[in-house]
Amino acid sequence: MNELLELYQTMGVSAGVYEYGEKALKRLEERFAKIDQIAEYNQAKVLAAMQKHHVSAACFAATSGYGYDDLGRDTLEKVYADVFHTEAALVRPQITCGTHALTVALSANLLPGDELLSPVGLPYDTLQEVIGIRPSTCSLAEYGVSYRQVDLLADGTFDYEGIRAAITEKTKLITIQRSKGYATRPTFSVAQIGELIAFCKSVKPSVKIMVDNCYGEFVETIEPSDVGADMVVGSLIKNPGGGLAPIGGYICGTKECVDRCAYRLSAPGLGQEVGANLGLMTSLYQGFFLAPTVTAGAEKGAVFAANLYEPLGYKCVPGADEVRHDIIQAVELRSEEAMVAFCHGIQAAAPVDSYAMPMPWDMPGYDDKVIMAAGAFVQGSSIELSADGPIREPYAVYFQGGLTWYHAKLGILMSLQKLVDAGIIRL
Ligand SMILES: *Cc1c(COP(=O)(O)O)cnc(C)c1O
Repeated sequence: MNELLELYQTMGVSAGVYEYGEKALKRLEERFAKIDQIAEYNQAKVLAAMQKHHVSAACFAATSGYGYDDLGRDTLEKVYADVFHTEAALVRPQITCGTHALTVALSANLLPGDELLSPVGLPYDTLQEVIGIRPSTCSLAEYGVSYRQVDLLADGTFDYEGIRAAITEKTKLITIQRSKGYATRPTFSVAQIGELIAFCKSVKPSVKIMVDNCYGEFVETIEPSDVGADMVVGSLIKNPGGGLAPIGGYICGTKECVDRCAYRLSAPGLGQEVGANLGLMTSLYQGFFLAPTVTAGAEKGAVFAANLYEPLGYKCVPGADEVRHDIIQAVELRSEEAMVAFCHGIQAAAPVDSYAMPMPWDMPGYDDKVIMAAGAFVQGSSIELSADGPIREPYAVYFQGGLTWYHAKLGILMSLQKLVDAGIIRL
C-alpha cells in the first residue's frame, strides 16, 4: 500500500475507488500529454504578451477614484488584446460577471430597430432575460432590439439554409455561444465557429459577430477572435482569471466594437479612460498568467470524470474519448439521489466549506430545483471545482473546474465514493 492511498483513505476514499481511478488514468496518458502541449503553447503566448507590453511592478499599484492614466489597467488590456489577437480589449473589475460582460457587448452594439440573431439555438439561461426571450425589465427587447434564433439541426450541426434565411437587412449582430453551457448540444470547436462566422459574413459582410467564450479560453491554441469574431466575451471567475481574479469580465475585439462597449460600461465620452483598479491588478495579471495551466488541470479533471463514469454505464457529454472544446463535463446520473451523492463528494473534497451538505433548492430563474456543490475561495467561481444541475430528467450533473488537476482528481474520486457508499454503484 502506498502512502498516497493511505492518506486518501483517511479522507474517505476507499482502496477500491482509488484503484478504479488509477486504472482509468493509465488509459489517459496520451490525452493528458496533448492537454499539456496546449497549455505549454498558451503559457508561452501569455508570457510573450506580458513581456512585449513591459508588465512591471508599477502595473500592480492600486488606483482609486476616476482611475485616470491607470498603467496597470491599460497594460492588462493590451496584454489581453495581444493574447486574443484583437485590436482592443476591455478587462475590468467593474464588469461584475460573465452575464454583465455579454450584456455590455450586446447593448453597446445593438440600437433600437436592430436585430440580434443566435444561429446556435437558445442562449445560456441568464442571456435569455438580457435579450428578452423571457420578458424582463431593461431587456434588449424593451429597448426595441428584436431577436431571432435558428436552432441546430438534429445532429448538432449548423442549419446553414435556415441561417441564410434568418439574416436580413435588420440583422446587426450575431451571437455564437461556444460552450454548451447547461444544454445537451455539443460544444463547438474554434474551427467550427470559424466556418460559421465565414458563412454569416458571406451572407452579410457588415454583420458583427460576438462569441460567448465562457469556459472555452485556453482549451485550444486559438480563440474565436483568431477566426473572425468581432468580439469575444467572458468571465474572469472562469478560465482566464486562473482562479485568482476575485471578480471581472473581458471583451476583446475590434476597436470599433470595444470602444462602444467602454462607452456603454462607463459613460458616453468617458469610455476606457475611467475605472480605477482598486488594487486588484496583481490578481488579474497573476490569474491570467496561471490560466493556461489551471484550464489544463480542469480539462484533465473533465476527461478523468468521463473516463470513470462512462464505463460504469452513465452517459457522459462529451464522451470519454471525445475531443474537448471547453472544461464542462455533463454526467447523466438518472436519479436525484445519485445527483445528491455526486455533489456531496465534490463538496467533501473542497478546501473551503468541505463540511457543508449541498441540497436541492428552488433558485430564481429556474423552473426545477437545482443542486450546487462548491467550496470555492471566490464565491461562485466555476474555474474552481464545482458541480451543479437542475433536478430533472436526465438528472445530469454539470461538473467543471479544479484549480489543480490533483484536486479535481480527488473531487471526482470522492463523488464516485459517495455513489458507492449510497449503494448506487458497485465497482
Ligand atoms: C457562465 C456562463 C455565462 C454567464 O456567466 P456568469 O458569470 O455566470 O454571469 C454565460 N454564458 C456561458 C456559456 C456561461 O458558461
